[in-house]
Amino acid sequence: MTTVNAYAAQDAVTPLAPFNFDRRDVGPHDVQIEIMYCGVCHSDIHQVRNEWGGSIYPMVPGHEIVGRITVLGEAVKNFALGELVGVGCFVDSCRVCPSCLAHEEQYCDKGMVGTYNGRDKEGNPTYGGYSTQIVVDEKYTLHVSEDLPIEGVAPLLCAGITTYSPLRHWNIGKGHKVAIVGLGGLGHMGVKFAASFGAEVTVLSTSKSKEQDALNLGAHHFAVTSNPDTIKNLQGHFDFILSTISAQHDYNLYLGMLSLNGTMVVVGAPPQPSIVQAFSLIGKRRSLAGSLIGGIKETQEMLDYCAEHGIVSDVEVINMGEINKAYERMLKNDVRYRFVIDIASLNR
Ligand code: NAP
Ligand code: ZN
Ligand code: ZN
Repeated sequence: MTTVNAYAAQDAVTPLAPFNFDRRDVGPHDVQIEIMYCGVCHSDIHQVRNEWGGSIYPMVPGHEIVGRITVLGEAVKNFALGELVGVGCFVDSCRVCPSCLAHEEQYCDKGMVGTYNGRDKEGNPTYGGYSTQIVVDEKYTLHVSEDLPIEGVAPLLCAGITTYSPLRHWNIGKGHKVAIVGLGGLGHMGVKFAASFGAEVTVLSTSKSKEQDALNLGAHHFAVTSNPDTIKNLQGHFDFILSTISAQHDYNLYLGMLSLNGTMVVVGAPPQPSIVQAFSLIGKRRSLAGSLIGGIKETQEMLDYCAEHGIVSDVEVINMGEINKAYERMLKNDVRYRFVIDIASLNR
């Protein structure tokens, strides 16, 4: 076992603070990773503050992890010592249910083992990437290109795959009018992917100040949702809407902007429920769906796509000690467009 430095939440209301714990020994199928960068996802805030319920403390968040392999288990086949690798939102699953066999481990019948705020098969709590090192089974480890800026790759492990997967599942591309709702960590990746797949992309935002950024990220149009004219002019307009909103809002407002047979996919996970009017759906045979991250195979496909097309996240690198301030800024929609922790700052 190795003792590692980390930051943890001890409960739902106290700021994150320094914490030490032991990582498990490297098993035959494991790799040990020296973490270099870890992205900050809004799901970290939801779970630290127990907004979804069931949080396990102490909690070391972080599921957008990139680093280098420092120890290889004796049976590891697909990775090399010193290799640059990534770890996303889960580190294990049952491996035998229909979802696992279909490479969609995120929908495992037994429940995936979260990278943090979960329990491994021995019942031990899992600790995430706000830490100097992690030990992961090679089956749940991703290859990362040496050709991209590493700090910009980290957010691909959650924000990237969470937006890539539904856009692929619903075959979004040329000829589709797509809206990305909410320009934060997920939203800005959604814009990059949808534009890269050839769709006509509109950002729907509450923040007028993000207009130029949206266009720079690849969006073709930008609209502020607080303006009632925006909503009126865009009625029935979009084939596909990807909603990344992290807080309570009215789904009907966005459903009304779908065209005949249009689909809205919810990836944002506000803790509060929302009332959906039947008439928001039935008048134009609309669909409302959800999507959860992506499987290991598709995450690798997404990382390879990003390497090929030069796609990374736009990041603001912070030191570990700035994490509580970063949370406050995210809650004010003041993130451009992903905070990424320089994990070396944990050793300074
Ligand atoms: P984020 O960086 O904080 O961005 C969220 C954005 O939503 C904000 O920047 C803001 O954009 C918009 N927003 C916030 N409050 C709003 C409100 N009341 N009404 C309308 N828009 C609002 O968060 P994130 O890391 O992208 O995560 C977004 C959500 O996705 C979180 O709930 C997270 O837990 C969830 N998530 C889900 C999955 C999945 O697998 N389904 C994976 C990762 C994250 P504007 O300033 O443009 O309005
Ligand atoms: Zn996440
Ligand atoms: Zn399974």
